[in-house]
Amino acid sequence: QADTNLSETKLNDISSARPVQIVVAHEDDHAFELDEAALERILLQEHVRDLNVVVVSVAGAFRKGKSFLLDFMLRFMYNKMSSSWLGGHEEPLTGFTWRGGCERETTGILAWSEVFVVDKPDGSKVAVLLIDTQGAFDSQSTIKDCATLFALSTMTSSVQVYNLSQNVQEDDLQHLQVCVLTLMFLIRDWSYPYEHPYGLEGGKSFLEKRLQVKQNQHEELQNVRKHIHSCFSNIGCFLLPHPGLKVATNPNFDGRLADIDDDFKMELVSLVPILLSPENLVEKEIGGSKVTCRDLVQYFKAYMKIYQGEELPHPKSMLQATAEANNLAAVAGAKEIYNKGMEQMCGGDKPYMAADQLERGHNDLRKVAVKHFCSVKKMGGEDFCRRYQEQLEAELDEAFGNFVKHNDGKNIFYAARTPATLFAVMFA
Ligand code: GDP
Ligand code: MG
Repeated sequence: QADTNLSETKLNDISSARPVQIVVAHEDDHAFELDEAALERILLQEHVRDLNVVVVSVAGAFRKGKSFLLDFMLRFMYNKMSSSWLGGHEEPLTGFTWRGGCERETTGILAWSEVFVVDKPDGSKVAVLLIDTQGAFDSQSTIKDCATLFALSTMTSSVQVYNLSQNVQEDDLQHLQVCVLTLMFLIRDWSYPYEHPYGLEGGKSFLEKRLQVKQNQHEELQNVRKHIHSCFSNIGCFLLPHPGLKVATNPNFDGRLADIDDDFKMELVSLVPILLSPENLVEKEIGGSKVTCRDLVQYFKAYMKIYQGEELPHPKSMLQATAEANNLAAVAGAKEIYNKGMEQMCGGDKPYMAADQLERGHNDLRKVAVKHFCSVKKMGGEDFCRRYQEQLEAELDEAFGNFVKHNDGKNIFYAARTPATLFAVMFA
């Protein structure tokens, strides 16, 4: 069969790429750790780093078929020119599933090491990153950790596929107080196709019912629902049938299509292109601007910083965390502008400048930097952002202090005069 050959040749590409843990959650001290080097190896590859990034994340609890789905998403990415991307009948699934593998099931975020370059119908090229967010979403003891983890992957992705088993529970909705572009609820093992049919249409009617705000609902439940609607520009739901007993229970199941129910395969063929075909790819935007792979590294770092250095994770609202990271990124961007300008004016290789001239230069650049900060769209409201503007101003003034010292060091007269003055005072 022709399609089997195709997927076999493409398997070479899959076999050199692999899932890489980029965020590790340490369960003992509830700390999160970003593997910056690993993230940079993936996102700063020369052929992708300046492309706008599409981040498709699948998040949810362990053992709910996330890797299984991601492996089919990988097949689509590697075989997408073929209509038979689903693969050969007897071909074992590989990719995120590391059977008997080296990767222990750790709470955290995994990224596929290969970033895919895709031509969009409008002629632009985008970089597609696939990530897998997993945690014990259903265990009370770690609920905060998981909320944090979920927030992290949601804030850094453009499409969040929220993988749930059988239904949507109230707790599942509580995780969603974050803003991203697209949220797709994916309900596995849907067993009421006569009420809401499989696929996107059935998912839509099911979700409308689940997210309805009702008069007699508790205020908190109403608020969660309103918030979800205001946060995600695009919310969908897809109902996936049970894949069959071999998939769910046979320990020797290796992912081959021959062992998967037809209903499931049929729905899979409609689901994956909804998420990954070129015309449907959603570029990541933060504060209204598109994000490149290179920017994404910065955002990961900024978001991670919020959760680091704390004894226990604060029950900080995720929305606030997003606003903080947002403002911190704007502060970093503004400082970069200031520092670059100052370096150009009075950096190490530049001659000594008169103090008043230096100060004028500083004042001008400070204005430019603050203006930049104000012009970046940020979340959190006016008062909140003003605090970060004040922080920026303080940091710019501190940086100026260092530039002054450095500049003074270049002045031989100043350097000579100081000991002389001291000498004069001591022996007067
Ligand atoms: P993950 O921990 O969420 O990544 O889950 P895996 O993809 O490793 O799958 C866990 C188990 O569930 C495996 O034995 C799969 O064969 C099985 N599985 C995969 N998809 C489904 C599904 O849609 N429904 C059910 N019931 N089992 C599934
Ligand atoms: Mg998995």
